[in-house]
Amino acid sequence: MKNIKDYTLEELKEQLVQMGEKPFRAEQIFAWLYVEKVKEFEEMTNLSKELREKLQKEFTMCNVKILQKQESVDGTKKYLLDLLDGNAIETVLMQYHYGKTICVSSQVGCKMGCKFCASTGIPFVRSLSAGEIIEEIIAVEQDTGERISNVVFMGIGEPLDNYDNVIKAIRIMNHPKGLNIGARHISISTSGLVPNIYRLAKENIPCTLSISLHATSNEKRSSMMPVNNAYPIEELIKACKDYLKEGGKRISFEYALAKDNNDAIGDAKQLVELLKGMLCHVNLIPINPIQNGKYDKSSMENIIRFRDYLNEHGIVATIRRELGSDIDAACGQLRRKNLNKGEEK
Ligand code: SAH
Repeated sequence: MKNIKDYTLEELKEQLVQMGEKPFRAEQIFAWLYVEKVKEFEEMTNLSKELREKLQKEFTMCNVKILQKQESVDGTKKYLLDLLDGNAIETVLMQYHYGKTICVSSQVGCKMGCKFCASTGIPFVRSLSAGEIIEEIIAVEQDTGERISNVVFMGIGEPLDNYDNVIKAIRIMNHPKGLNIGARHISISTSGLVPNIYRLAKENIPCTLSISLHATSNEKRSSMMPVNNAYPIEELIKACKDYLKEGGKRISFEYALAKDNNDAIGDAKQLVELLKGMLCHVNLIPINPIQNGKYDKSSMENIIRFRDYLNEHGIVATIRRELGSDIDAACGQLRRKNLNKGEEK
């Protein structure tokens, strides 16, 4: 059956016309789904009983279930969500001074194989539909009773490897009649799938693009991220410049510092060279060591020295505050979990 949350407003209008209904009904349905956040078609009381029954026959609402919730001492919450087909994914809610940010997953598992990431080594299962991504936001908003103002695609999966559904989900969350989250409050994070960065530049969505860079030479980056073999740094940077050329867009480069790997001043120097003249921001992340991984966290002293070097040489850099590490909810710690017991799979 079709999930009603898989459709943008325009697509839902078409669906209703095909059912012999007036297109404005789609706006009413959108309001029930994303403003009122109802769980049943029955609750859509400004639609006739007949239409509600028709919708019930044609569509599911695919309400995800919260299987587990963990709360960190810093207020970060990690949710294990049941996708209703035996799969489950993790979603994290973080509290910043400017509002609530949700870190959504875009796939069940990930194909990218980054050596430092906990999602690696577990087989990839499937991509999420647009409606399932939207459900991550709705489920958490309903649980907390508070509005989410920012969305980052930094959970499990590679969003640009699930391009169409991610774009559709962004259109639904961004629509003033949908979840009404501004494009500037939405970030897509990518390991660097170059062809889809060019595609994204052409979409009329001024969201922030986060590039998981992590190294400045192809040799080092390829050793950390196999995707670099397919799309080396020069091509990635060229695609980023193209993205910036399209109006109103921003880029943030993610750089996870690992001890004795990519945290020397020489690396900072190369980073300055690489990003010279680009309107961008660098986010420094103390790498989170994973089980049996070969990378250790850089010392805070090194990280600060690295940041200061960038700032002194014209690159705006900040150190990302670590949230939720006590509940395994910090960067790169999310994994695909088995439904019944919440265990790794
Ligand atoms: N596939 C996407 C989004 C998911 S990962 C991407 O690669 O960008 C979200 C961010 O967490 C990325 O910047 C990723 O490189 C980073 N990350 C993954 N594992 C990490 C770890 N162990 N420590 C710190 N950051 C990590």
